[in-house]
Amino acid sequence: MTAPILLWLRRDFRLHDHPAMTAAVKTGRPVIPVFILDEVADAHGACPRWRLGLAAERFDKALRAIGSRLIFRRGKAVEVLLALIAETGADTVLWSRLYDPMAVTRDTGVKSALKEQGMSADSVSGHLLVEPWQVETKTGDYYKVYTPFWNQVKTRGFDAPLSDVATLTPPETWPASDDPADWKLDAAMVRGANVVRPFARVGEAAALQRLADFTDGPIADYASARDFPGVDGTSRLSENLTYGEISPRTAWHAGKRALDNGAAGAEIFLKELVWREFAYHLVYHTPRITTGNWREGWDAFPWNTEETPEVLAWKQGRTGIPFVDAAMRELYVTGYMHNRARMIVASYLTKHLLSHWKIGLDWFEDCLLDWDPASNAMGWQWSAGSGPDATPYFRVFNPVTQLDKFDKARDYAGRWIAEGYSNPSEDALAFFDAVPRSWGLCPDAAYPEPVVTPEDGRARALDAYQARNF
Ligand code: FAD
Repeated sequence: MTAPILLWLRRDFRLHDHPAMTAAVKTGRPVIPVFILDEVADAHGACPRWRLGLAAERFDKALRAIGSRLIFRRGKAVEVLLALIAETGADTVLWSRLYDPMAVTRDTGVKSALKEQGMSADSVSGHLLVEPWQVETKTGDYYKVYTPFWNQVKTRGFDAPLSDVATLTPPETWPASDDPADWKLDAAMVRGANVVRPFARVGEAAALQRLADFTDGPIADYASARDFPGVDGTSRLSENLTYGEISPRTAWHAGKRALDNGAAGAEIFLKELVWREFAYHLVYHTPRITTGNWREGWDAFPWNTEETPEVLAWKQGRTGIPFVDAAMRELYVTGYMHNRARMIVASYLTKHLLSHWKIGLDWFEDCLLDWDPASNAMGWQWSAGSGPDATPYFRVFNPVTQLDKFDKARDYAGRWIAEGYSNPSEDALAFFDAVPRSWGLCPDAAYPEPVVTPEDGRARALDAYQARNF
């Protein structure tokens, strides 16, 4: 049994708590780590596709430090894997399981093609705390509401994270690798990768540092601070969790330790980690959540699906509603948006502008560093009212009163809006440097009038909702 094992890496760029890698090491056989820019990665929006490449490149460095390396290839996953098997004499492919429909379709096809060729092909857990089929209601169904899901999940004892992999046996000869720089993954980023790059925290070490910084301080006040977008009160781990630069078990156990040590906010942090699990639970059991209304009754709702001038103003951060514009500009410059701001902009697009949540889902996928197929879909459908356990359609966030409540001193709005400020912040000006000239924006212009006022938007949304007689 000296044939090498192909370790196919997709969203698991870490050496700690990596069940698939640990299983490969245990065999004592040579291991060839592989990253494929495949049909699923190629379908990602511009920012997550570029960020995925950064994760892989950084991980190559980490592997080299333990005597291994990452082989970069491009093409249809099944074809690349079969070619690598032929080149290397490998007879086994191992990977960490994913749950979104595109990944599941690809992986199912890969598994059966490999098995047909007499290869061993195994997927292993690692991206979640608990597999979606392991959490069931009393009647054997999947959960559609978060609170009972949380009540069940929180009582489970999750195993401690696995130790770091310290060494991977290399093959006698390494197969050829592409140079990922040649893929030019930054080319599709309209605002330019350089705009977002300073805000990315790439790699396992950065992720673990983020967790340590958070659990050493902000976690104590997290329960209240997490609602204020002008405060650095959250972990920012979403970027690293989505590429597997940190394992959910590592985050969970750190949160649990903080809770045991008396950090009051830690339980809410654990709850948020379980919202991520819930999103995956939903996407696994109802894959349509990523593409169509989870509540099919919403299919007949008269959402606008066009890029109207209002929708364009939403994307470009010039709706004339400061909370919405600040958030959309934060997204454009940093590739991140605060959770409260995500809820506000999603509510404004789907309710005040009566525009389809798919428009927002796609824009987020194009712009977010932390894009996650499950959380993004759940977040949009939750906000629109069409999802499971969703905010009721008649609860329309008022972006003006929300700003007064959650950004009273205008720390957030002031950071991201330049117009009307005698001394705009660097970030607010960075937005104007980042946007394409064709948007015609200028920081010295007057701040725009609302494209739709909160009052008119609310009334229009409620009329449309009532006419549907849900
Ligand atoms: P923290 O507050 O520190 O929370 C810790 C972790 O818990 C997060 O890193 C994340 O993994 C998880 N978490 C927190 N809130 C949620 C939530 N509401 N749903 C699912 N998981 C959660 N999150 C993504 O990771 N990727 C997305 O593409 C994404 N799109 C969203 C779209 C909309 C419309 C909405 C309303 C929410 C979306 N979220 C998404 C969820 C949430 O906004 C982010 O996870 C959170 O803002 C990330 O910041 P943080 O890491 O500082 O979170």
